[in-house]
Order: sequence, then structure tokens, then C-alpha cells
Amino acid sequence: QSQELSQARIDYHAALLALQEHGTRMVCTGKMHTDRICRFDYLCYCAEAEEFVFFHSNSSVMLPNLGPRRFQPALLDLSSVEDHNTQYFNFQELPAAALKFMPKPVFVPDVTLILNRFNPDNLMHVFHDDLLPIFYTMRQYSDLDDEARLVFMEGWGEGAHFDLYRLLSSKQPLLKEQLRNFGKLMCFTKSYVGLSKMTTWYQYGFVQPQGPKANILVSGNEIRQFALSLMEKLNITTPAEEILANAEEKDEYIVVFSRSINRLILNEAELIMALSQEFQMRTVTVSLEEQTFPSIVKVISGASMLVSMHGAQLVSSLFLPRGAVVVELFPYAVNPEQYTPYKTLASLPGMELQYVAWRNMVEENSVAYPERPWEQGGIAHLEKDEQERILASKEVPRHLCCRNPEWLYRIYQDTIVDIPSLLEALREAVKIRPNLKKAKPASMVHPGRVREPLCQTSVQATNEAKLTVSWQIPWNLKYLKVREVKYEVWIQEQGENTYMPYILPHQNYTFSENIKPFTTYLVWVRCIFNKNLLGPFADVLMCRT
Ligand code: UDP
Repeated sequence: QSQELSQARIDYHAALLALQEHGTRMVCTGKMHTDRICRFDYLCYCAEAEEFVFFHSNSSVMLPNLGPRRFQPALLDLSSVEDHNTQYFNFQELPAAALKFMPKPVFVPDVTLILNRFNPDNLMHVFHDDLLPIFYTMRQYSDLDDEARLVFMEGWGEGAHFDLYRLLSSKQPLLKEQLRNFGKLMCFTKSYVGLSKMTTWYQYGFVQPQGPKANILVSGNEIRQFALSLMEKLNITTPAEEILANAEEKDEYIVVFSRSINRLILNEAELIMALSQEFQMRTVTVSLEEQTFPSIVKVISGASMLVSMHGAQLVSSLFLPRGAVVVELFPYAVNPEQYTPYKTLASLPGMELQYVAWRNMVEENSVAYPERPWEQGGIAHLEKDEQERILASKEVPRHLCCRNPEWLYRIYQDTIVDIPSLLEALREAVKIRPNLKKAKPASMVHPGRVREPLCQTSVQATNEAKLTVSWQIPWNLKYLKVREVKYEVWIQEQGENTYMPYILPHQNYTFSENIKPFTTYLVWVRCIFNKNLLGPFADVLMCRT
């Protein structure tokens, strides 16, 4: 079996002695259970009890040592979804002396990353909750390299996209149910437990209605590097690269990502013809039911536009080239502004995708399925009043995840896309033609602080004064080619709580309007590259007229 862990690679006797003598060692990062990742030597797992075990000895270490706060509510989140009460990690404790009475441990020699996948059957969850966080947790800890072992503890089977998880390391990932095969007690020589949440951009609405995370820490750069790494492992060269290699005419095309089971586009043929006509490009369709995922990625990575109903398959827009357009279609009574996982992705700085939402506003163009089971949007199980209220409603009110029947009813409708209104939305939003040529990434380099800021003042008359502020360019500017360099100056009269902002093109300026004699002004100066790359303010200047 592939699950065999070559015990030959470690000296069993030495490992057992080390465990008995030193016990378990744990050192974690993070102040709270929601931002914690722990590194362990000799963390053990008892398959029978389905519990992790920490063995205490004279030289074991547990940092942080939280005492009983370790259970309030948990040591850490095992998935990347924040503070979800089905995703907590903890361990039980035993003295190392208890090993004498326990089954002989089996040691795992590989450096192991232990985590929960959140929803491995849904492509959005696979990428957002698992693949990206695993990829970047592995980059955070350099011994989690290509030889690392992944262990998925959520208890699911492989799921529909297991091949994607396999790309993250050269070793076969292990599922919780497989851990039993290694014996009653297994001990991970070196392991990390938990996932970085740094790359997630969306919260699914468990405590407040779904939306972008409050503090997004990832940019398009990291998403694109992850996508490139995955494509390399899939042996996909993008059509754009092929064009460069062959110096051929580039072939622009539109991709319609269709769903064939539910949430259908009922006039797909008409939609495809209209798109081809409007943009003078060929249009191809893909679906998870008809193509392998790698072949879909290959098609998407060369597309100028991706059109799809709202749904998990749209996470594949992270494989689109820069400058491409994402068009998300929403069924009747679903407000696009309240469901923005793909809009947020497309809008991350550095993703450089154009995003357009279209919403079916015509109820007759919608086909609903009230008789289906509730999880496919059926509402027949509800009280008559409630059914009638839902049928009469023109928009799903804001709601929490995950079983709101009105939401499920509406989101699982099929749609006849009204072509004129879609084209109008596209013409309005897609300012420039979708374009692969401008695939050059925009600069993300921020200015340093301006140097040697100075002020000089003079009093002209009892009610007239001047304030001259000057500064030197930031240190890094002399090594850069920047299209537009501007400076921002804030002037605040001491004691007031408002300030006047100015945007200036040069390295000095004399202010005379609104400057009073015998007054102290606080002055801040910073540099701005290309309108939106802000530098830090220099130390505040105190300027007395
Ligand atoms: N799915 C699909 N075709 C369909 C319906 C679903 O490929 O006709 C995929 C979808 O992309 C996702 C998974 O099945 O990966 C679960 O779909 P669901 O509708 O439950 O979730 P959603 O797409 O709304 O996130």
C-alpha cells in the first residue's frame, strides 16, 4: 500500500527513546486560537480514541501554556475558516511513563502538516479554504517542502478534487480514516498543526451575512503565483506563452463556464452566439461534468472573458490572464452585491481582472424548483404562508449561512439570460476591449518617505503670512521609473482637528491662502506613485509663522 511509511528511514529504537525521555514539544505562533499555528516534535495520535496526545516528560515544552484556557474554546482552528466550532483542534495529555502501557507507537518520519479541509466537494471552498492556505502555510515553514506529508483530519473521503490536493507535495495526502491503518498509536516526528488565514478573502456568513473579509491581507500577486505553480505542476503552458513562442497571431476567445446539473443557463446557445457576435471572438464552453479540471484551466488561462452563473466554478477565474473580464450571472431575486466571493477575488489589487455582474430582473425568465429537496432549493416542506411569502418576494433579504430556504430556492433557479440587457451591462463596464496584450503587470512598488522635509515661514502683514514647505525625493525613487510622481501635503493648525490636504507635483510649495500670522501649523508630507501607491508620511513638521 502507498500508505506505508518507511520505518527504515528512522531509527525506531532511538525515536521511541526520544519520545519516552523528552515527551512532546510544542511551540506556536499567534496570540489567539484564530491565528495560531503550532509546531510539534512527537505529537501522537490515538486512532481508537480519535484523539491527539501530548506526552509530558521532564523536557517537554508547551508554548503557549494556556492551562485550561486551551479549551476556551480551543487551542487553534484546524481549518482556514475563522473560529468555526466544528473545526477546532486540541489534544489530550498523558505522562510519558504511560507509554509503557500503551500499544507500540508507529513513527511518521515525514514533516507533516495537519489540517481540516472545509468543504472538499465545492471548488470555491477547495481553492479558498484549502489549497491556497496550504500552499502558503508551506511557504511559511521551510521544512514543509515538496516532501511534506499532508494529513486531512476533517473526516471526509477524498472528495471530487483530490487530485488538486495531490499537487501540493510529492507524498500522498492521508485522510483521517486511513490513520487507523498505521496502528493504534502513531507519532509524528515533526508536524505543524493549523493553517494560515493570510490568503483568504471571504467570510461565508456564519455570524454575519457573507461578504469580503474585513482585513484582506492577500494581493493578486500571491494568488497568481499560486496559480502559476499549480499550472506548472499540471504541465500547462498558457496559450499566451505558446503565442509568444511561435510568434503567431493571438487568438482571442470567450469561455462560458456552464453548469449542467443545476442553476442552468437555459439559452446557452443564444448566449454564445451573442457574445461571439458582440466581441467578434469565438466562444467555447467548459463544464466540470464534461472536461477534466486541468483541461479547463488550460482553456481559461488563455481566455479574454469568462462568463458563468454565480457558483463555485467561478473561482477558476484565478487562472485568467491579466486584463481578462469576469462576467458573473445571478438568478432572479438574488442581489449581486450581497454575494461577492468572485467579485472580491477579481478586484484584489494586482489581479487586474475586470468584473461585471449581471442579474436576471425578469421573473418570467426564471425557472424555479419548489418541489426539489431543501438542499437543492425546494420549499415544499415549508408552511404555506412562508412559501407564499418567498414566491412573492422580489429579492432575498440578507441572511446567514447556510440553510436559508429562500436563498436556496432563488439561487437554484435556472435562467433565460436576457441578451440585450447583458450586452448593455457588458458595454457599459468593459471600457476597453478585453485584451491579452496589456498583460504586463502594473508596478506595486511603494514610495519611501520623503527626505529632509523643511518649512520656512514669513509674516507679510497682521493678517497675511506665508508657509513654504520643501522636501527631497524618497530614497528609492532614484532607482525607479515611475510614470507619475506626486506629493501630498497635509496642513493642520495646531489645536484644530481638521486639516487641509494638497496634491503637489514638485518638491516645494509656498502656501499663502488660509495661513495666519503667529500661528503654529503641523505639516505632513508623503509621496504618491501613479495616483494610488501611497508612501509613508515623513516626521511631522512644526511650523510657526
Ligand atoms: N457543480 C457543477 N455543475 C453543476 C452544479 C454544481 O459543476 O451543475 C459544482 C460546483 O461548481 C461546485 C459543486 O458542484 O464545485 C457544488 O455546487 P453547489 O451548487 O453546491 O455550490 P455553489 O456552486 O453554489 O458554491
